[in-house]
Amino acid sequence: MPDSSRSSTVAGNAAGTLDILVIGAGFAGLYAVHAARQAGHDVLCLEAGSGVGGTWFFNRYPGARCDVESIDYSYSFDEDLQNDWKWSERYATQPEILSYINHVAERFDLLRSIRLETRVVAADWDESAAVWRVATDAGEVHVARHVLCAAGSLSVPNKPPIPGVDDFAGEVLFTSQWPEPAPDLAGKRVGIVGTGSSGIQSIPVIAQEAEELTVFQRTPNFSVPALNRPLTEEDQRRIREEYPERRRKSRVSGGGSPYVAHPKSAEECDPDERTAALEKGWTTGGVLFGKTFPDQYTNIVSNDYARDFAVAKIRAIVEDPEVADDLIPSDHPIGTKRICTDSGYYATFNRDNVALVNLRKDPIEHIADWGVKTSESSYELDVLVFATGFDAMTGALTRMDIRGEGGVLLRDAWADGPVTYLGYQVPAFPNFFILNGPGSPAVLANMVLGSEMQVDWLLALIRAADEQGADRVAVSPDVAQEWTTQLQEAAEQTLFPRANSWYMGANIEGKPRKFMLYLGGLGTYAAFCDEIAADDYRGFELTAASAAAERTEQVVR
Ligand code: FAD
Ligand code: NAP
Repeated sequence: MPDSSRSSTVAGNAAGTLDILVIGAGFAGLYAVHAARQAGHDVLCLEAGSGVGGTWFFNRYPGARCDVESIDYSYSFDEDLQNDWKWSERYATQPEILSYINHVAERFDLLRSIRLETRVVAADWDESAAVWRVATDAGEVHVARHVLCAAGSLSVPNKPPIPGVDDFAGEVLFTSQWPEPAPDLAGKRVGIVGTGSSGIQSIPVIAQEAEELTVFQRTPNFSVPALNRPLTEEDQRRIREEYPERRRKSRVSGGGSPYVAHPKSAEECDPDERTAALEKGWTTGGVLFGKTFPDQYTNIVSNDYARDFAVAKIRAIVEDPEVADDLIPSDHPIGTKRICTDSGYYATFNRDNVALVNLRKDPIEHIADWGVKTSESSYELDVLVFATGFDAMTGALTRMDIRGEGGVLLRDAWADGPVTYLGYQVPAFPNFFILNGPGSPAVLANMVLGSEMQVDWLLALIRAADEQGADRVAVSPDVAQEWTTQLQEAAEQTLFPRANSWYMGANIEGKPRKFMLYLGGLGTYAAFCDEIAADDYRGFELTAASAAAERTEQVVR
């Protein structure tokens, strides 16, 4: 962890002043590099990893796939790219997504603007010059007029503070930092802690390879079968034909894909219509089941219909009724934690080599060199896997020493929870823009489309500032507080705050509990951002900071 008491400012100079410095080379950062270059900007991207791809570079665990269909979860900015790339399956595997990202980086010659294995450790706003001085772990300083921070919503792994967590003598693996080459699990006794999306995707695959698999589950999650399948030549033809309309629908949708909810609330449907709608939602697959009814997240009655349907499906698959009981969530309305998307998760618990440990009944006491000790049993293990999630939404930002006006640290400014305007900007941090940040739809919608939308919008804002001769773009505390309060109030009208989810910061000890996302959907958000832009970027201050500072200096001299 960086030292938050650091008081020095970033010193030193680089070769020249960049127009834009991008932090992170995942889907968002890569598009930012491309689009900024297309707009004529001098741009450099700094990426901590040894390759591009962000999420898809690091999360190489067995079974890792997207949970938004690949034909939607891919860039839309270039029609030739869209038509040339053929996804082999409905939900691509991590290796296929990473090879797509590498293809994009090569095709658009992005690597020449990216510095790999370079972590940003600090960034200081220099008010007099209206630039950011950005320091790296290599001791370099880059100077840039604007920073686009694409450091990721789910890029800082959560290492759980379980007593003895560092004592295990066998192999320790994190799904979010899975090594390459992949470890050989054959013949091994494997334990896995965590049953969120990463655990639920990896458990069926690890179970097939390991001698024994023990699943340590603290809280069960709902999971819906992905119904993944290969895409045929006929699919490929149809996809190309439908792409323009599919993308158009996706951009105006809530979730960034072209699906729409059943036109009626579950309560308004008669039993047959309701069951048919639920069956359709279920067989559409994965997270889309969470969008079966339009009021599923605001009306507990509607939500309970969906929940009961999912519970019946779990019971029909899991042979041991006690194991089924343990696998059924009872602490949150369905979908208020991201619904997981699986391939054979529940059936895995029918295997002889798989055991479920319900940590609510039998908690972990400590981890020892030989394995896991719970209050009732001891589990000797060769490999211990942590699928324990991330310090989501704010973690990557608060780990950097980002200092704005008056030397204020971003993590101090966010001590009571993140405050932003539209997810893009924080008061006192001029010219520092966040992609997929708290206060935006981010992880609640297809993040590739969301990233494209945000990058295009921010580059238009920077262009507008340049055209006006403004070298300082900022937001006031009032505007940001108003946006953040509105998001909170909107969340309180829904079922989301009932879950101890990472959307609420609830998975990290000591993190303020605030709902961190814009719930109105991607299409509504994009339309609102366009309205702001059309109204002369209402809420943003576009001013000439350096000109003002120079004038002051001349007067003093
Ligand atoms: P990331 O991909 O997280 O990239 C951020 C980059 O910033 C990383 O490469 C990181 O190394 C770098 N970085 C961070 N801090 C620094 C620093 N200080 N200095 C330099 N570099 C830094 N979303 C969906 O919409 N659909 C899905 O199907 C889906 N599946 C997912 C599966 C998994 C396993 C996970 C973990 C997430 C998934 N998500 C999904 C969310 C996913 O994170 C986004 O879709 C998307 O990949 C995020 O792109 P990004 O560029 O915003 O961030
Ligand atoms: P997650 O949803 O936060 O799940 C973490 C799991 O670890 C939870 O089951 C949690 O239990 C458990 N855990 C954490 N600390 C623990 C402790 N001290 N003791 C025992 N258990 C502990 O993380 P994730 O599975 O990595 O998923 C995060 C997000 O990434 C997803 O919601 C999704 O947005 C994205 N993702 C998507 C996919 C996909 O399908 N494409 C795959 C992976 C990830 P508690 O609930 O009790 O805290």
